[in-house]
Amino acid sequence: MMLDHTHDAHLRSWVKGADDHPEFPIQNLPLCSFSDASCVRRGGVAIGDYILDLQALAEAGLVDREDLPIVATAAQPKLNDFFALASAQRRQLRSVLSGLLTAGHPAKHQAERLLVPMDQATLHLPADVPDYTDFFAGIHHAMTAGRMFRPDNPLLPNYKHVPIAYHGRSSSVRASGHPVVHPVGQRAVHGGTTPDYGPSRRLDYELEIAIWISGGNQLGEPIPIDRAAEQIVGFGLLNDWSARDVQAWETQPLGPFLGKNFLTTVSPFVVTSEALAPFRCAQPARAEGDPRPLPYLLDEEDQANGALDMTIEVLLLTPAMREHGRPPVVLARSSGLDLYWTPAQMVAHHSSNGCDLRAGDLFGTGTVSGPGPEGHGSLLEMTSAGKNPVTLPSGETRTFLEDGDEVILRGWCEREGYARIGFGEARGTVLAPLSKELLA
Ligand code: CA
Repeated sequence: MMLDHTHDAHLRSWVKGADDHPEFPIQNLPLCSFSDASCVRRGGVAIGDYILDLQALAEAGLVDREDLPIVATAAQPKLNDFFALASAQRRQLRSVLSGLLTAGHPAKHQAERLLVPMDQATLHLPADVPDYTDFFAGIHHAMTAGRMFRPDNPLLPNYKHVPIAYHGRSSSVRASGHPVVHPVGQRAVHGGTTPDYGPSRRLDYELEIAIWISGGNQLGEPIPIDRAAEQIVGFGLLNDWSARDVQAWETQPLGPFLGKNFLTTVSPFVVTSEALAPFRCAQPARAEGDPRPLPYLLDEEDQANGALDMTIEVLLLTPAMREHGRPPVVLARSSGLDLYWTPAQMVAHHSSNGCDLRAGDLFGTGTVSGPGPEGHGSLLEMTSAGKNPVTLPSGETRTFLEDGDEVILRGWCEREGYARIGFGEARGTVLAPLSKELLA
C-alpha cells in the first residue's frame, strides 16, 4: 500500500464543505453508484456533502485523453468493470479525481456543475454481487458466541488454523436503507427437539466490515497470499441480519441458511484500498501457544501492514425514540484490529482450492466484536442469548429487535497526521412480516 500526495492531510478542495468533512474529505474519494431526479444510474465519487457525477465528468472534456477510459469505466451504472481493472489503474482514477478536486484547479467552475448534492441522490448497491461469502474472523465474537454452547471449549479446534466462512446469498444483498421484512420461519423452541413456525422472536444484527473484490483468477488458480491484497478494491460496512431462532434450528449440520439470507445490508460507498493506505497496520500478534498460519496464509508484508485500523459502531433507534426526537444510541463499538485473519488471508484462503473470485464479489468479515462488553457486535452477545435485556437511555429494553427498530452501522478511520475518513452508513428498519394471514 503506497502513500502519495493524495493522502496529504494538508490537501484542500474547492468543493464547499469538503475540507475537514468528517467522512468525505478529498483524502477519501469513495466510489458509489447513484441516481438523481433524472433516474439515470451512474458511477460517482463522494466529496463533502456532494457526489461528483463521473458520467458527466467523462463527457465534460475535463479529463486527459489517457485517463478517459478509466473515468468512463468508473462512470458505468455498476462498478463491476471498474473493480476488474488492475490495481494500478484503480490508483490512477484516484490520482485524477484528487487533482481535479484540489483547491485552485483551473477547471473548478466547469467541474462545479458536475456535483450532485448527496441529499438529492439515491445510492444503490455499488456493483452486482456475483457471490457473497461471510467469514467468522472476529475472534471475540467467536469466543463469546462459542461460550454459550461450549462454556469450557468456546473455540472449535479448527478456528485458529482455517478462516471459517459460509457461502451467503447474493440475491438478497441490498444497499443501506432497504427495509428488513421481519423473517418468518421454523423457530427453535428452547430446550425442545421440535420447532414452531412464525416470525423470528430473535431477530438480530451483526456488525461487520464489507470487503469488495476485484477477482479475476481462473478456476483452478489460487491467488497467492502476496498478491491477495491487490485483489481487494475497497471496504464498507455490512450487516448480516440474523434470525437466531431460525439459525439455531436449521444450522446443524450444514450451516447458515434461511436464518441469514432474508437480507444483507451494505453501505453504498466503496472506500478504496488506496484511500485506506494510511490506516493499515500490523496484524495484532497471536496469543502465545496459538498456531502460526500455514505458509499459504503467511506473508511478511501482510502481517506487517495487512490489518485495518478502522473503528466501527452499531446504533439503534426505536420507534419511541424516533417519536420523542431522541438520537440513535450507540450499542457497541469495535475495530478492524479485532479480526483474527487479515482481509488478504481471507482472499488467499477463499481461492486456495482454486475457487474463482469475480469482480464485485463481496466478503463479510464476520461479526466484529471488541474484547469487552462495550464491543459486543450483536444482540446475541449483548444480552447473553436473550437472558439479560439491554436497557436503553429511553428506559425501553431489548433482548432482540422489534418491528420499527432501525439499526445503523457507521465506521471511520483516523490517525494522527492524516485526515479522518468515514464509510457512510448501513441502515435498515425492521418491518412487520408481510403476510400475517399465512401464519394462522
Ligand atoms: Ca455474519
